[in-house]
Amino acid sequence: MQISVWDHARYVCDRQHPFPEMAAQMHLLAEAGVRKCNIYLPTVGNLDAYLRAAAEVSMAVEARIHPQEAIDHPVLRTMPETRWQEMEARHGIRLAAPCPNHPSFAPGLAAAVARVAEGYAGRLCGVQLDFIRSANSLLSLDYPCECDGCRALRRKYFGYEVPTEAQRGEPACRYKELAWLNANVRAAVVAVREVTAQYGLELSIAARSNYLNSLDIPVPPVWGLGPAVTEGQDWVEWAEAGLMDAVVTMNYHTRREYFRQNLEDHLRLLQDSRVCFCSGIGLSSSMGELSPGQLRERLQLLREKGVTAAYIFNKTNIYSPECLAVLREFAS
Ligand SMILES: [Zn+2]
Repeated sequence: MQISVWDHARYVCDRQHPFPEMAAQMHLLAEAGVRKCNIYLPTVGNLDAYLRAAAEVSMAVEARIHPQEAIDHPVLRTMPETRWQEMEARHGIRLAAPCPNHPSFAPGLAAAVARVAEGYAGRLCGVQLDFIRSANSLLSLDYPCECDGCRALRRKYFGYEVPTEAQRGEPACRYKELAWLNANVRAAVVAVREVTAQYGLELSIAARSNYLNSLDIPVPPVWGLGPAVTEGQDWVEWAEAGLMDAVVTMNYHTRREYFRQNLEDHLRLLQDSRVCFCSGIGLSSSMGELSPGQLRERLQLLREKGVTAAYIFNKTNIYSPECLAVLREFAS
């Protein structure tokens, strides 16, 4: 099995001279059979040092790009302060992210990817789009964005710029809101695809584990779960259209049954696509942690299902000798 890791380089203590620590980590992972590191650009600190460390052990490196961090002057979800206060009172959070409906989103993201591709040509194997979606489906439906882009779309289709609560519930309006959100996120993926093709880079996406709906989304709000399609991330359609090389599902469930159920969903959903399917595993994530035994159980399940690629998510980037031994067992 091809094993990759999502890396944040948070293990680095000496941020001024990160190379020795990065090199030590790369050696550990390489010895465990890991062949690719996916590095989160907002936290790496020094990408040049990271790539030099990776090159020492012939580790492939993929850059993970987050729209909010990557786009120059992104236009975030826009609302009046009173609406933000309502959101906070109801859900305990103010969730803003770049609005995919704003005309600056797709070109801004493509330009950001081009900067990375240009700056590190020949040293990266690919690019992964993270958070390629709207901020959260429930919040988008209940607290619609009022940026210039969203206002213009509603003005054209609905004849108003900001929906009332009753208008927000109308099926036809919901349909159009979701349709243009999906179209605009897709357009950004297409724009990025042109850049990665130009530079000979692979393109993958970090995909919501929940595509439509799953038993593990019991009550709102479900910040980290999706479902993908109401966030504008129709990764099944993108895969069938050949918009990316790989889909990496963020299946971080610590409950075995949920992990299995999501995995079975992913295999069913991608049956007609030629995209490379990589199953994410959350060794340590916002959903909790796995023991080395649980990690082995998941990799074993992937093997039984014929899945040939796994990505290990590890928030803290600390791999115990026991975990590394498990990776070694499955790595090829
Ligand atoms: Zn907007």
